[in-house]
Amino acid sequence: MLLHTGGTLGMRPRQPDQALAPDEFGSTVLEYVPELNELADIEPRVLFNLDSTDLGPVHWKALARAVFEARDQCDGVVISHGTDALSYTAAALSFLLRNLPFPVVLTASQRPLADIHTDGRANLVGAVDLACSNIREVSVYFSGLLFRGNRVVKRSTFAFGAFHSPNFPPLAEIGTEIRISGKSLVAQGEFECSGDFDARLAVVWLQPGNDGGVLRALLETDVFGVLLVAPGMGNVPVEDTAVADAIRALVGSGRIVAMATQSASGNVDLTRYVGGRLAASSGAVGIGDMTLEAASVKLMFLAGSFAPATIAARLLEPIAGEVTPP
Ligand code: ASP
Repeated sequence: MLLHTGGTLGMRPRQPDQALAPDEFGSTVLEYVPELNELADIEPRVLFNLDSTDLGPVHWKALARAVFEARDQCDGVVISHGTDALSYTAAALSFLLRNLPFPVVLTASQRPLADIHTDGRANLVGAVDLACSNIREVSVYFSGLLFRGNRVVKRSTFAFGAFHSPNFPPLAEIGTEIRISGKSLVAQGEFECSGDFDARLAVVWLQPGNDGGVLRALLETDVFGVLLVAPGMGNVPVEDTAVADAIRALVGSGRIVAMATQSASGNVDLTRYVGGRLAASSGAVGIGDMTLEAASVKLMFLAGSFAPATIAARLLEPIAGEVTPP
């Protein structure tokens, strides 16, 4: 099953401003890439036709439901999607769809299928091929590499290699042959589709000179939690404790404060430096080696089912391989 959600892959340049608009993807994809028929019996279905930045919890749940309902009709699912917010959808699906009996491969492209330089053709071919494999988890195929879906980050708005997986190796690679890592998830029970999201999460970047004002202002809002993106392994200033004091006030009000890193790879460790220990003693918890995208979607997912005060204990428990256990 080929589920289309929108994005550049299915767009056509529109005159005169050259903006890209959604096109009739379902009817044309097999005309543009007829070789897909050699790999599988493709059933295209247009679920949405949106820029990926317009997708959120409602779409994630509809998409998960469509995959779940296709369970007796197909051997694999490919989801075509925009690149910009693809990592959020991939993480959300990995949490909603547990114990997958077949592969669910998201893919996208930097240039539309109609463009002579398109990367969409190769990405679709690779995604369909790997959707026929035994890698039964939510993954992302892009530019020769298959990644665990909840581990990817969009790293470039320019390069064809738009995605990387900073803290987890690729599940497969297509070169002169297809190499499969053998590290994919193994189902532990019945295929399930359930869960909800609470989107009332604030993500705050901790820049030098931050006086904690933005964090304190969040006390007046209905956010259930804050993802605080801090330097290094999750450090807050110790000379001026305004940020730590604001964390303490937020946690004291029943909210969760999770610490992320501003670094492109590596993990949060709140035991390593005095600044991290101050964050921890103020009530914050680290996100381990999760990406910002996976951590924000996981916080929303956990808050969809559990009270904020109980989320901290669950944050580092892997749901679908999104975090390396401490
Ligand atoms: N803005 C587009 C989207 O994410 C970009 C893309 O498809 O790559 O939907």
